Amino acid sequence: AQELLQASEKLSLVGQLAAAFAHEIRNPLTAVKGFISLIQSSGGTKPHYYDIVTSEITRMEQILNEMLLLAKPQSARLLPCDIRVLLAHVTTLIEMQAVINRVEFATEYENGIPNLECDENQMKQVFINLLKNAVEAMPGGGRVRIEVCNKGIEHIVVRIIDEGCGIPIDKLPRIGQPFFTTKEKGTGLGMMVSFRIIENHRGTVHIASEEGKGTTVEITLPVSAQPA
Ligand code: ADP
Ligand code: MG
Repeated sequence: AQELLQASEKLSLVGQLAAAFAHEIRNPLTAVKGFISLIQSSGGTKPHYYDIVTSEITRMEQILNEMLLLAKPQSARLLPCDIRVLLAHVTTLIEMQAVINRVEFATEYENGIPNLECDENQMKQVFINLLKNAVEAMPGGGRVRIEVCNKGIEHIVVRIIDEGCGIPIDKLPRIGQPFFTTKEKGTGLGMMVSFRIIENHRGTVHIASEEGKGTTVEITLPVSAQPA
């Protein structure tokens, strides 16, 4: 019985990991699909979309590589990274989904924001997940504010503030648990993956939410000692 139990636990872990990876691949895949059709309908007049498609394919490649290296888990590759460039790229990627949902992004930076110390692809994944959730929380459209400010000299804070449906207080502790979702087509993996990446970067997350009013996700991350 003990062996059976262990075998089934192993199986469910494999299943959970497979689902997590499928989720990680689906975001860039959706972007590639969308940008290819934009390229098609623009008659080839949007050459910079090719760069986005290429970089998203590279990301999928990296995710698959990580999957193959699972037996020997890779740690994050931490490098100095400009949060403005990173957020500009991420908002471009999900702009299409935002436009369809009549959601607009407004990003504000405090002066003198230093570089982050992060694995760029992992950090992109975090902001894609969080911004997607913000957009999905506002079926009637609205504005998502992104605030970036200093916290002492060793950290920056990024706040993602939506005007969406909010999270009921009793559901708050479940956010980030694997497969916790309130969406018909949700996976409930985005927050889990994001929390884990932030933790690996020695960062912290705090969620404040009011039902019917909106949600603020506040992330604190360490800055880099070197310039990019
Ligand atoms: P998914 O988006 O696939 O449901 P996530 O892990 O990204 O999975 O999110 C889990 C759940 O957390 C969501 O289903 C939703 O109920 C809640 N949630 C996360 N972010 C927000 C937000 N900004 N506003 C409202 N609810 C949210
Ligand atoms: Mg999500």
